[in-house]
Parts: sequence; structure tokens; C-alpha cells
Amino acid sequence: MDPLDALRAVVGGQHVLTGADAEPSLTDWRERYSGQALAVVRPGSTEEVAAVVRLCAQHSIPIVPQGGNTGLCGGATPDQSGAALVLSLLRLNAVRSMDLDNDTMEVEAGCVLQAIQQTARDAGRLFPLSLAAEGSCTIGGNLATNAGGTQVLRYGNMRELALGLEVVTPQGEIWHGLRGLRKDNTGYDLRDLYIGSEGTLGIITAATLKLFPLPVAQCTALLALGSMGDAVAMLTQARHSLGAALTGFELMAGDCLADVVRCFPQQRLPFEGESSHWPWYALLELSDSESEAHARERFEVVIGAAIESGLVQDAVIAESVAQSKALWHLRESIPLAEKESGKSIKHDVSIPVSRMDEFVTGTNAALKKAFPGIRHVIFGHLGDGNLHYNVARGPSLSEAELLGCQYDVYELVHDCVHAVGGSISAEHGVGQLKRDVLPRYKDPVELALMHRIKAALDPDGLMNPGKVLTSD
Ligand code: FAD
Ligand code: ZN
Repeated sequence: MDPLDALRAVVGGQHVLTGADAEPSLTDWRERYSGQALAVVRPGSTEEVAAVVRLCAQHSIPIVPQGGNTGLCGGATPDQSGAALVLSLLRLNAVRSMDLDNDTMEVEAGCVLQAIQQTARDAGRLFPLSLAAEGSCTIGGNLATNAGGTQVLRYGNMRELALGLEVVTPQGEIWHGLRGLRKDNTGYDLRDLYIGSEGTLGIITAATLKLFPLPVAQCTALLALGSMGDAVAMLTQARHSLGAALTGFELMAGDCLADVVRCFPQQRLPFEGESSHWPWYALLELSDSESEAHARERFEVVIGAAIESGLVQDAVIAESVAQSKALWHLRESIPLAEKESGKSIKHDVSIPVSRMDEFVTGTNAALKKAFPGIRHVIFGHLGDGNLHYNVARGPSLSEAELLGCQYDVYELVHDCVHAVGGSISAEHGVGQLKRDVLPRYKDPVELALMHRIKAALDPDGLMNPGKVLTSD
């Protein structure tokens, strides 16, 4: 039987999309990568996923798993050959169960992150993963990329938020690994291997997620800072004074906020005059188990001391939930403002916090010298040592000129990251964007082990080929 007809027999004709129906799944969110596919197939259960994978194995059809298609490294986009099948998990969107005494929930891979946050909240629990794409990214994509976001400082990234997985292997078997255990030392940790594997080792169909108590109150503050050194010193001070109550510490360059206000005029900085022109701003979030008044009081003490010592130039502590939301909205709008402003060269890097100042100062200077027309767009999760160190064009540079030097810019920035002991991918993954530069920075033994794992689990190389590792 023709493979497409066989697929239709498994999932139903209306769930095998071709032509214009398949189009939205063939380009990535940044519109940087575009590909072709045999079809986009949308199975409705784990058993159907397994049947699709077995069929593909039989016909040697490569599979590109896809969730919300919000990934930033081209991991969910097929190549130009048209040989691959895009396997969308969006119909696997059930919350299978909740175990409140165990503080866990079992959910399918296609559940949208925001829906899972809400389901947890409705049950009086917190599912803490939070990121700007939460309205459309899926739990499966979050797991496959080991997503981070704004709460990692307190709760960890996706790897720390999942206790168990259900996976369809490249051979079409189903691994039933949905354990809700916080301790399980029975051999190799396949869960941690699959998390962050970007669809190259199999398809995640469901997960057991960790839940946490809902904080009674949250308070947000925006600080104006004179230098990266001050930002790092403030992070250290806030961590020591607030401990686990500090649940967010986001850094934004003043230029990023200026872009947000320019692109979205309904948004405003809560500062006036001089205070709206500092080089850096930090957004702090405090989660409290007592009350809003208690949260504010704790913030006032810590931030008050920092202002007095000259570490912080100005500060606004949100007076209401609405004001907190408005402050977070500024932060979350940065990637959108960046997209509105045209193409940019993005780096998602991880740096030891102690070397952050040295990295930013040194790299900014080296870039300006080598590429005089560029502009920095720097923001990120300083609490985790994770910067989105992006490079855009200044007025003297055209978009084509900027993109013309992108590989040289990548190399300069990534070499600087490597020199301070950092990583070239903090939270977005490797996908196709960083596949070819990985060997330059990854320990050769580690990289060889990764190739051996890939060959052992997916000997025919049909799982998301050309992503993370080169296919040869
Ligand atoms: P997709 O884009 O569909 O897929 C991503 C990768 O996972 C691909 O390699 C794909 O093949 C694979 N995959 C997807 N589902 C499965 C599955 N079920 N089984 C196996 N493999 C699968 N990331 C962060 O970590 N922190 C942030 O703060 C953050 N902010 C973002 C803000 C914006 C505006 C955007 C657009 C993205 C942001 N991201 C961030 C990127 C982030 O990786 C994604 O938003 C999200 O984790 C991917 O989920 P998705 O369902 O869209 O996956
Ligand atoms: Zn991020």
C-alpha cells in the first residue's frame, strides 16, 4: 500500500495533511527555516503514534516530531527534500490524571503549557514552567528542548520538573515510563536522556510532571541599574536575603525596553526622566507563603538597602497584580519587539554568573570593533546565568549586510562564551541552527558518546535527522 494511504488508514484521512494544509508546519516561528514534507500527520493516541512510527520504519521515512512549532533552533522544521513526515503531537492533549497527595500530574505531550499551568492552578497547585511562548508551546516540545524560562532560578528547568515519561521508540515500541517517583535508582536514567534530545531519539507522548504549592502572594519589582557588575551584585544580594522566595531575576538592557515601548506604544516604562535611560533593568519576582503585604515588606527592605548603598539607581515595586502583570508584560514583549524590528542574530548562552560582567564587557567591545554597524539586544534570565545575547542592525547597516556577517558574529560570540567556560545553548537547544558549530565547542569524547547513543537507539537514523548531530 502507498505509505500515505497506510497512514490515512491509521489516523484517519482528515489527519494526514498535505498541500496548503501542511504549510504552517513547514516554517519555523522565526521564519528562518522552511522545508518540505511528505505530509503532516496528526495521530490521536500513543498507539497511533507507535503505528505511524512502525510504518515509517518499514518505508524508511524520516520523522520530524512537532509540538507548538515555537522552537527557536529549527528543530521542528523538515529539510527541503520532502522525504520526511512531520508528526504533530497536538491531538494528544489530555490531562490523564492528577495525584495531589503525590503532587504530580500525568499529561499528554500535545498539551499547551498555559493550559497545564491553569489546570494545576485550578487544583490549587503550581506548575512553574513559564515562558513567553506558553500560549502555544507544548509539554512535549518543552521536554524535547529541556525548556527553561523565567522560574528556573527557583524550580529548575524542564528536566527537573518531569518525573516520568512515555516514549515511542524509533522502532515503534512504547516505553511506559510514567513513574511519579522522586527517587528511583534502578540503572541508567533514560528519562533524562530523552529530555533535551530534540526528537532525535524517539517521540515523547506523555509525562508525569511535578507540582508545587501555589504561593499565597507574589510581588514584582523593576530595578534600574548602572552596570552589569551592579546587576550581578544585586542578584547575589537578593539571593542571600530572600533565599527560595526569590523566584525570578530577569535582566533587560535599557535598549530592549526602549524597543518594546516603541513597537507597542500602549506599554510604558514605570520610570520618568533620567530613570528611564539606565543601561540595565532587572525584573525581580518574590513568591511568599504569607501575604502580599509581607512580600512587599521583604522587597522594601532588600531594595531599600540596595538603593542606599548605590547598587540600584531607582526602583518600582508593583502596587497591584495588574501592575505586576504590566511589568512582566514588558519583559515578555522583548522577543516580539525584536521580531517586529527585523531579523537579528541570536545567541542563547549560558555563562557562570561570576564571569558575566567580563563576558558582556569583552564581547560587546570585540563585536563593535569587528562589526561597527551592529546594535546589541541583550536580555535574559540572569538568575540562571542565561543571556539572550542578540545582535541587530544599527541604522547604518542593511538587513542583508547584517545577515551577511552572521556566521562571523556567531563565531566571535561563541568563542567568547567558550573562553569563559559557558555553553552555546542554554535553553533553546541545538536543532539545525547550532548543529554544525557544536563540534567546535563540545568535548570530543562527549560528542563521540552522543553519536554512539544515537546510533544505538536509532540505527536507521530516521528520528529527526540532521538535528543536533550531523547525520554522517
Ligand atoms: P516545537 O517547536 O514544535 O519543537 C521543538 C523541538 O522539540 C523540535 O526539535 C521537535 O522535533 C521536538 N519535539 C517537539 N515535540 C516533541 C515530542 N513530543 N517528542 C519528541 N520531540 C519533540 N524556550 C525556553 O527554554 N525559555 C524561554 O524563555 C523561551 N522563550 C520563548 C519565547 C518565544 C516568544 C518563543 C517563540 C520561543 C521561546 N522559547 C523559549 C523556545 C522554546 O524552545 C519553545 O517555546 C518550546 O519549549 C518548544 O515547544 P514547542 O511545542 O513549540 O516545540
Ligand atoms: Zn529565555
